[in-house]
Amino acid sequence: MEQRIHDTLEYYIHGELPRVLLLSGMHGDEYEAGELLELFVKNHYLKLPDFLFIPRVSPSAVNARTRKNAYGHDINRQFIDTTDDPEARRVMSLLKQFSFDLCIDVHEDPDRTMGFYLYDSDQMTDEELATFRAIIHPTGARLYTGVDDVDDENLNLYVEKGYVSLGFEKSEAVSGFSSRWLYEENRCKRSFTTEIPGKGPRELKTKLIHSVVSFLLSAHLR
Ligand SMILES: [Zn+2]
Repeated sequence: MEQRIHDTLEYYIHGELPRVLLLSGMHGDEYEAGELLELFVKNHYLKLPDFLFIPRVSPSAVNARTRKNAYGHDINRQFIDTTDDPEARRVMSLLKQFSFDLCIDVHEDPDRTMGFYLYDSDQMTDEELATFRAIIHPTGARLYTGVDDVDDENLNLYVEKGYVSLGFEKSEAVSGFSSRWLYEENRCKRSFTTEIPGKGPRELKTKLIHSVVSFLLSAHLR
């Protein structure tokens, strides 16, 4: 694993043609999960498939520990080609050099204490869903059921037992979400966004990152 810099953006690369993209640090107020993902990657990279990992997609938001970055943006609404956000532009120009089978973007939901959920750009089979739900149980987290974020017009989605399928193939592209951009640009075939319970204890977050990332890497490289 090698640490590199793309026009001030720090990232790690393992293997020359990585098919897995790992992202964290879009939202600075959710960075504990990103820090834990960085630890997970550093401890396990030898056993992981080749990957590219950007630990701080928005370095200025992570430094300030805020949702918005130094340019006044939620960077996860700036993944559009016309954006003037320099951090989003840097990430897009780096990622345009690659093509991935799988992307895992690690976020926290600051309103949750124990409830975990996952967004999927596609749809898991019943068998995959059963396995996914089964691996969450031993972490001590609960599978969240309910609306994700009523205050966000691009979200407000119903989460069922820890899972939401976004169905990119069937829905319109508007939002400026990184996962949507990756999909539209044919940069990534399948994207997952994890929502780790932000108010949960660090130990719970550690277990969730370990279990969920391992599961997604083993189950969804197709
Ligand atoms: Zn987030």
